[in-house]
Amino acid sequence: ALHLQGLSKAFGTVQAAHQVSLTVQAGETVALLGPSGCGKSTVLRGVAGLERLDGGRVEVAGTDVTALPPEARHVGLVFQDYALFPHLSVLDNVAYGPRRRRAGRLQAAAQAREALALVGLLDLQARTPVQLSGGQQQRVALARALATGSPLLLLDEPLSNLDEQRRTELRADLRRLFSQVGAGVLLVTHDQREALALAHHVAVMRAGRVVQQGPSAQVFAQPQTAWVAAFLGHRN
Ligand code: ATP
Ligand code: MG
Repeated sequence: ALHLQGLSKAFGTVQAAHQVSLTVQAGETVALLGPSGCGKSTVLRGVAGLERLDGGRVEVAGTDVTALPPEARHVGLVFQDYALFPHLSVLDNVAYGPRRRRAGRLQAAAQAREALALVGLLDLQARTPVQLSGGQQQRVALARALATGSPLLLLDEPLSNLDEQRRTELRADLRRLFSQVGAGVLLVTHDQREALALAHHVAVMRAGRVVQQGPSAQVFAQPQTAWVAAFLGHRN
């Protein structure tokens, strides 16, 4: 679903991402791990087209989208700040993606309800975002990404504002959901249990570079450097 080749992005003297290459196959979840500031969000934003790249090539579902604007890239996004439309109801926020793909109003609403049911928020569909908690807003953002039906989902800490119990519940739902929709998922998470539970592959970043990637169990069991071992070992 995603082929990323040599993505590079500097902010002034900070090399936020340097020659990052990775592949997410359809139906596969890849987790991006690494300490704060290592470039995870920069990579996601670059794939989404929200960041002007210094170099690199982004291919989504067989199409080179490097030169395309975000709305033409067919990706579903959940970002750390999960911006919802404040003036729209929960339902209309989630139906926005399908509507943009020119789905009929009824069909878009049906897809939106389905996605809201999956994240457990169907009963709040008539509210607006300010009437929701942070965790609920985050789940609306997740539903909105799911409802796009995109072949690639980019999720930046999608469960970070949830309590432990919700996280665990939603983690199981997500695994089922991801395999159901068959989308490729590129997931940023600080939670290694989440990565192990959801991701087939992980890529570990340090200071803008991918320093190790491979099947999740293998990376966790066989870190290639002392730094990766320490990073993985010190968390959770
Ligand atoms: P976190 O886990 O804290 O979200 P991250 O891995 O997502 O971190 P990025 O947001 O990708 O990190 O940032 C990578 C580096 O680029 C950091 O040093 C950050 O300060 C810098 N950076 C990110 N966005 C900008 C920007 N718009 N202007 C200047 N520097 C930026
Ligand atoms: Mg980030």
